[in-house]
Amino acid sequence: MDFNELFIRLKKRFPDAGYSNPRDPFSVLISTIISQRTRDEQTHVAAQALLSAYPTARNLATAEIKDIEKLIKSAGFYHVKARKVREVSRIILKEYNGSIPDDYESLIRLPSVGQKTANCVLVFGFGKEAIPVDTHVHRISNRLGIIDTKTPEESEQALRKILPEKYWLDINHLFVQFGRNICRPIGPRCAKCPVFDLCSWEGRFK
Ligand code: SF4
Repeated sequence: MDFNELFIRLKKRFPDAGYSNPRDPFSVLISTIISQRTRDEQTHVAAQALLSAYPTARNLATAEIKDIEKLIKSAGFYHVKARKVREVSRIILKEYNGSIPDDYESLIRLPSVGQKTANCVLVFGFGKEAIPVDTHVHRISNRLGIIDTKTPEESEQALRKILPEKYWLDINHLFVQFGRNICRPIGPRCAKCPVFDLCSWEGRFK
């Protein structure tokens, strides 16, 4: 795969989708936990409401569960998620004095934090090179023929080996935009694809 060509073309099509400055790591962490098994729009509304009311781990650690639930009700599984975000806030307060750790090993030890969430915090919260693999990154990387994997976890490992580090910060945002608008899970718009000739997916001619 010619990564340079791939990223140039995707950035041209989605000029606002590349990586920008890091955001507050606590808000990245909490938003990513709320996003688990939930659509992006619902995640955004719920996370905004929660973080406006409780902007720090210290605030959220002492919040009432019923108050958290009320704020994140638009996200799915809000009973479970309310407990998760409070628990993780309490641990961050107790073990890290309220600051989010900036290394993978510490992040992955937190409850409700898996590979994707840890990598999201590293990239979007700290601007550190990592590869957050969600369903878009997993699907598109396989369709393009960059990797051949069965799960997002396998994809992360495979991409770490093959993708030059200079693309790590950009890949998630770019592929998410590309996946929502063109390389959709069902009914990909291959006829409008800017990287059609770079793709090895057999279904692209249908
Ligand atoms: Fe996705 Fe189709 Fe483009 Fe391949 S040609 S990357 S399957 S939209």
